Amino acid sequence: MFSIAEQLNNVSRSIKKAESEAGRPENAVQLLPVTKTQSAETLQQAFELGLRIFGENYLNEALDKQQGLRESLPSSDYDAITWHFIGPIQSNKTRAIAEHFDWVQSLDRIKIARRLNEQRPADRPPLAVCVQINVDEEDTKSGILLDELEAFADELESMAHLQLRGLMAIPKAGQSSEQLGQSFHRMRAAFEGLQRRYPAVDTLSMGMSADMALAIEHGSTMVRVGTALFGARPPKV
Ligand SMILES: *Cc1c(COP(=O)(O)O)cnc(C)c1O
Repeated sequence: MFSIAEQLNNVSRSIKKAESEAGRPENAVQLLPVTKTQSAETLQQAFELGLRIFGENYLNEALDKQQGLRESLPSSDYDAITWHFIGPIQSNKTRAIAEHFDWVQSLDRIKIARRLNEQRPADRPPLAVCVQINVDEEDTKSGILLDELEAFADELESMAHLQLRGLMAIPKAGQSSEQLGQSFHRMRAAFEGLQRRYPAVDTLSMGMSADMALAIEHGSTMVRVGTALFGARPPKV
């Protein structure tokens, strides 16, 4: 029978192995469990296994699950959860994202950044953000081009309620592992450049279920893992 506990063990072991093979310290890489389309019960199970960080793509679905967990967990437990928004962001959703998430990894428009900055509640810490990079310059993929990063990051600096923490990318599907390695390599170079200019930058979010070992070899600090933890996704309703 499929067991999240067992899958979590496997994924944690794969991360450790990849860290060690890449000569990186243990716990250099954080696991972001991606729970899009998974039920509140699945999140509750994940919480009971010790997970305290979740990535969600669809706002309304995420808000429903947050509400479900808020009702089923003691508030100190609920407050221990860190929520990452990792999906495309429409303008009319920014207020709820600014209010109900701790991180946004899919930031790729200054207009959206301005709205999140204005709408982040003043009593919360700054919203942590990663800029999403369209690393393989695909026509239909979200994200800015690497060439645009410097100007984009400079604009973010003036926004007091956002804190730039790093970069996120979803490389082109169907690449050979050599091509994929090159995509990850470009991301790492950009990340290291960004770190030199902005000391708070500490997150290079790349690698998913199918390619996390390669991403870790290339310097990922956060892998976003859905299928390998929770199995095939139920369709979005
Ligand atoms: C769904 C999703 C993931 C997880 O993908 P898996 O292949 O299921 O691990 C990671 N990142 C983003 C942005 C996603 O939308």
